[in-house]
Amino acid sequence: MEKSKTNKELPKFKYFEDPYKLNIIKRDDNIRCHCCNKLTGYNYEGVIYSVHDVSNVCPWCIANGAVGEKYDATFHDCVYDESQLFDKSSVSEVMERTPGFPTWQPFTWPIRDGDFCMYVGDIGWDEIKVLPDSEDVIRELHEHIKESYGTTNEEEIRNIMESITNVGTHSGYLFKSVVTNKHVVIEDWD
Ligand SMILES: [Zn+2]
Repeated sequence: MEKSKTNKELPKFKYFEDPYKLNIIKRDDNIRCHCCNKLTGYNYEGVIYSVHDVSNVCPWCIANGAVGEKYDATFHDCVYDESQLFDKSSVSEVMERTPGFPTWQPFTWPIRDGDFCMYVGDIGWDEIKVLPDSEDVIRELHEHIKESYGTTNEEEIRNIMESITNVGTHSGYLFKSVVTNKHVVIEDWD
């Protein structure tokens, strides 16, 4: 694992696979963390929801809960079905100690096997088709579209699924179960 300037190991996030690879947290030697006031060599410039004016924090202050606590902040505009969680303490880990990622609309964070899923990244139809568990992912997506769009027209459902891209206004987000590693895709519109 890449080491920081201070030789401390970079924090990992249970519910976000790799915010460093996705450039949500970037190398930067010149930006001081708003929270700990240190030059750590890494900067998170994603969204922070707080009544306080806070931006540019380091991954350590996200992971240890300092940003969440000091600024009464969360990193996500999402809902979730708490009744599906075996351990409710994961709510604060997701909301207050997991970096955010760009979405168009507030979204429903998927829960599988009693725990929040881990966010992996954006995904389009071409990548969805070749996931190792694509059959299950597509079946689930199909059900979701049927319900949320109120349609049973197969061609229409297929067209909606095939219009999911990882760059456009109809985005797909890939998650996976932290228990079984099985993938889940949710969709989002501009
Ligand atoms: Zn910090």
